[in-house]
Amino acid sequence: EALSTETSEAAIDLSKLKVSDEVAIQVTKMNKWYGTFHVLRDIDMTVYRGERIVVCGPSGSGKSTLIRCMNRLEEHQAGQIMVDGTELSSDLKNIDKVRSEVGMVFQHFNLFPHLTILENCTLAPIWVRKTPKREAEEVAMHFLEKVKIPEQANKYPGQLSGGQQQRVAIARSLCMRPRIMLFDEPTSALDPEMIKEVLDTMVSLAEEGMTMICVTHEMGFARQVANRVIFMDQGQIVEQNEPEEFFLNPKSDRTKLFLSQIL
Ligand code: ADP
Ligand code: MG
Repeated sequence: EALSTETSEAAIDLSKLKVSDEVAIQVTKMNKWYGTFHVLRDIDMTVYRGERIVVCGPSGSGKSTLIRCMNRLEEHQAGQIMVDGTELSSDLKNIDKVRSEVGMVFQHFNLFPHLTILENCTLAPIWVRKTPKREAEEVAMHFLEKVKIPEQANKYPGQLSGGQQQRVAIARSLCMRPRIMLFDEPTSALDPEMIKEVLDTMVSLAEEGMTMICVTHEMGFARQVANRVIFMDQGQIVEQNEPEEFFLNPKSDRTKLFLSQIL
């Protein structure tokens, strides 16, 4: 079943991968409302460079909103979010810089259907980064090889399987050379047989030391890859721990209930 999908053996022991003491993202007393609905409450979270964080929690608990705030797809109303030393605020001048430093992969790939795979991957580098077309294409091919679908470069998204499209979405993000990658349930729209190929791609990113925040209910992935699991409920971070402790010894009743429902 989908929840227990295992990834291939990691080439290296990810538990030994070092996390730096350099801060990548610092969230301080952050609050967000949708209208009058208080969706995120006093979020404090420090993400160190090289961390692989899995965020889980019930549907509606604010997981997507939290990571969308981290690249300013959503605005927060109180508190502070610092990304690589830049504060995300309403007078943020260089939103493109933040967005290119923080890549994001969504549940529904969000590829441009009328552009080829290669064009999907070169669009932002050419128009946002002002990369020359030839160079952008070389970089795109490099990352399409990395996600193991260079032969699909001239096809359109609709000609690819869901798993292939999601790998394109990951490659497209990587083409902007992000230092941080955010994943919002990247496998939850996929058929079970395609989940593994996407998780394997994420494992290889982790092995290269990418800083990653992954909203996912793939607990096999969390065990294998995460150095920290964060559990959210009703707009708050309820509990966080290293995976082994988190799964073996959950502290709060809400975490226990959640784990009993998904494991
Ligand atoms: P999760 O990703 O954990 O399922 P979300 O962050 O998507 O949770 O949503 C948290 C809560 O905020 C839910 O109650 C959802 O209905 C609400 N919500 C999400 N997006 C919006 C929006 N654009 N406007 C109003 N409410 C929203
Ligand atoms: Mg969500």
